[in-house]
Amino acid sequence: MTFPSTPVLAAGIIADGPRQPLTDPAHGTVFHEAATVSAGRIDACVRAARTAFEKDWRDVTPSQRAALLHKLADLIERNAEVIGEAETRSMGKPISASIGEAKGGAGCFRYYAGAIAHLSGETIPVSRGGLDITLRQPLGVVACIVPWNFPFAIACWKVAPALAAGNCVLLKPASLSPLGAMVLGELAREAGIPDGVLQVLPGAGSALGDALVTHPLVRKVSFTGSTEIGSHVMKLAAADLTRVSLELGGKSPNIVFSDADLEKAADSAPWSVFDNTGQDCCARSRILVQRPADRDFAERFTAAMAAMKVGDPMDPATELGPLVTARQRDISEDYIARARAAGRTVHGGSRPGGAGWFLNPALILDCAAEDAWWNDEIFGPVASLRAFDDEATAIGEANDTPYGLSGSIWTRDLQRAVRVSRQVEAGVISINCHNSVHTEAPFGGFKQSGLGRDLGMASLHGYTELKNIYFAP
Ligand code: NAD
Ligand code: MN
Repeated sequence: MTFPSTPVLAAGIIADGPRQPLTDPAHGTVFHEAATVSAGRIDACVRAARTAFEKDWRDVTPSQRAALLHKLADLIERNAEVIGEAETRSMGKPISASIGEAKGGAGCFRYYAGAIAHLSGETIPVSRGGLDITLRQPLGVVACIVPWNFPFAIACWKVAPALAAGNCVLLKPASLSPLGAMVLGELAREAGIPDGVLQVLPGAGSALGDALVTHPLVRKVSFTGSTEIGSHVMKLAAADLTRVSLELGGKSPNIVFSDADLEKAADSAPWSVFDNTGQDCCARSRILVQRPADRDFAERFTAAMAAMKVGDPMDPATELGPLVTARQRDISEDYIARARAAGRTVHGGSRPGGAGWFLNPALILDCAAEDAWWNDEIFGPVASLRAFDDEATAIGEANDTPYGLSGSIWTRDLQRAVRVSRQVEAGVISINCHNSVHTEAPFGGFKQSGLGRDLGMASLHGYTELKNIYFAP
């Protein structure tokens, strides 16, 4: 398979928007062009999806639907290398990670194929007698809007449960990275998923977003992206009570107590913020270390950071690729320059050379609580560190942010792990590790990191309406 040039839409609908050049961030050069869909086509796409919902998808039996999703998972696995290459060329992620994401996407389809059999309601013993039951029914047409940082993975996190629950999907990939979603559309067709059930709408969010969110037949918008655009989506959705699920920004804490396995914590901490070149909503970029361990921790962290292999993302040995755009690198460099100007100690953060938008990862020490780099989601390879003395201070500082997506706690004291994990205001906490994502478990944020959950059964339920039916005695 070569990279697709036109997206899969319902029969008879043509992608009529301007062709969009795609730039490889490792070289700064255009490597492909893809068609886009104009806002004027959205109405036809939504209507075709609604027709497909009523005629060809809503009433497909659970076992048939599961079989189709397993077939799609097989095809994704078979095409993992093409999908991986498409993502690496578009947004610069190391090829090993891109292929891993494609395979993870197949796993996500398999999980939801199996989950269909568990999408059950309840029998409720109501006081009048008779029989009261609940049904989980699909919403209808849902729009899934995804960002460029984990383009294929996040598309699967949304499309798989939405289809599993019996909805039809309009998938809008980020304009920088439409190819993986376009391949997914082709593979869904090849798997035998009926026409109009999954359509892929590449194009700028500023052009397509409002038309998708405000269309009266779109019953839910599942969005992953910035807090700013998420808030805009929620405002527009409010007009006709369109359901929303929002996975937004983060500035997550990594809390290291001095009784922790410091070697393990410091060796893995760079990965928890610099993986994906720091372009990760879960990046644990607010590092809080208990005195007196802070000096040792910073030394070990700096050594592990310096050993990370920055380079050509198509090289299987590369660990960190370039930033996605020149602007994204400028933003990170600007924070680093401001930290230096403010007299903070900064390790790393230079340009490694090469034509693309590469940047070596950086650690900023001795941050003040009001420093911009301590508070803002940078979305680049920049970590900030502050030392603390007692547990209450660490919890207070961890929560002193409008975000609440993820976080790690490192300690050997089980009671402390229980106390602190209950008090940190975040949707996803890991103890003595940095994992945020499990296909089978809910993923999402507190506060301005979002609303609703991706993954797990929680996400599947989020693509349904809950109906109560009462039979008279
Ligand atoms: P973004 O908000 O700029 O764009 C996300 C998507 O929304 C893209 O597809 C974009 O085209 C679309 N969009 C843009 N304007 C729109 C509009 N007016 N209406 C509807 N859609 C519109 O985000 P980004 O730059 O692609 O991604 C980075 C952000 O995403 C970061 O803040 C990051 O933390 C967040 N993110 C969150 C998660 C999570 O699960 N919580 C995961 C990945 C990324
Ligand atoms: Mn953006």
